[in-house]
Amino acid sequence: MIKPSELILGVVHRWPLKTTTNLKENYTHLLLNMINKGQINVLAHPTYLFGKQIELNEEQIKKIATAAFEYNVAIEITSTKRVPSEDFVKICYQKGTKFSIGSDAHRKEDIGEIDWSINLLEKLGINDKNIIKLI
Ligand SMILES: [Zn+2]
Repeated sequence: MIKPSELILGVVHRWPLKTTTNLKENYTHLLLNMINKGQINVLAHPTYLFGKQIELNEEQIKKIATAAFEYNVAIEITSTKRVPSEDFVKICYQKGTKFSIGSDAHRKEDIGEIDWSINLLEKLGINDKNIIKLI
């Protein structure tokens, strides 16, 4: 259980590097660094970058899922961005990673928009015990 005032989300909103060479490898590295510092509770909208979803390969997803499990970082399933992919969520689920349901509301109209997230979790048979809870 996490107290609401203690919930810290980590996210890559802006690309911090000067180049997009090896984008997916560098993005994976950024996420792993964020997770491995042990300072966040939730990895927000993973794979959403430059206004779209980027496709990571299975090895990259497994690295992120394993680190998230080891550092007890939940993976946000983000309705407004429709990320991460079903394959990403499946791999995280297989690794035992917890999930968070989020809207990533950058506009007030998006607050509470979680239908896509709920539908994906139901489709994959992921239930309450795999979702972090606030007290
Ligand atoms: Zn965001």
